[in-house]
Amino acid sequence: MRKRLQLIKEALSIGVVTRKYPFIPAEVPEGFRGLPQFDASKCIGCTACGNVCTPNAITFVDDTSLGIRRLEYYLGRCIFCGRCADVCPTSAITITKEFELASLNDRDLRLVIDIKLIKCQSCGRYFTTFRHLNTVAGKLQEGVVDLVNICPECRRKLALDSLIKLGGLK
Ligand code: SF4
Ligand code: SF4
Repeated sequence: MRKRLQLIKEALSIGVVTRKYPFIPAEVPEGFRGLPQFDASKCIGCTACGNVCTPNAITFVDDTSLGIRRLEYYLGRCIFCGRCADVCPTSAITITKEFELASLNDRDLRLVIDIKLIKCQSCGRYFTTFRHLNTVAGKLQEGVVDLVNICPECRRKLALDSLIKLGGLK
């Protein structure tokens, strides 16, 4: 009995420790990783985020009939690791502190960004996006910029032809 009274006394001295969530918003600690937010206007369609996304929450499909590269983010697969934001070269992804993400509608969990594709000036096949090409071209020196407009395969053939002409390969 004495022990119980002691316990009640201690509990009363500590007071209420539970939080009234969801009636009062929950506070999350510094560095908390919640919903990744995408800024479609900054995305260049480089696919870097999809390459590092282990659970495949970010996927890419090139639709050559429409001439677009489609980025699809599916929240249902996201593990909130933040790797996509780490590697994005244009800071198009921000990791927010948002965590109340449940929905009864699967469509609410999906985000789609369409980016225009560009064709190779040599073979005429789509190979990357306009925005990606412009970003890369802006970082290159004069003389090399022309090579950006052709796909990696044609670039390889061009390099091989030049080597043969120079007598490097027989
Ligand atoms: S936070 Fe992690 S799991 Fe979620 S989309 Fe980014 S890389 Fe994928
Ligand atoms: S890494 Fe950034 S720029 Fe590249 S596709 Fe993903 S969101 Fe877009």
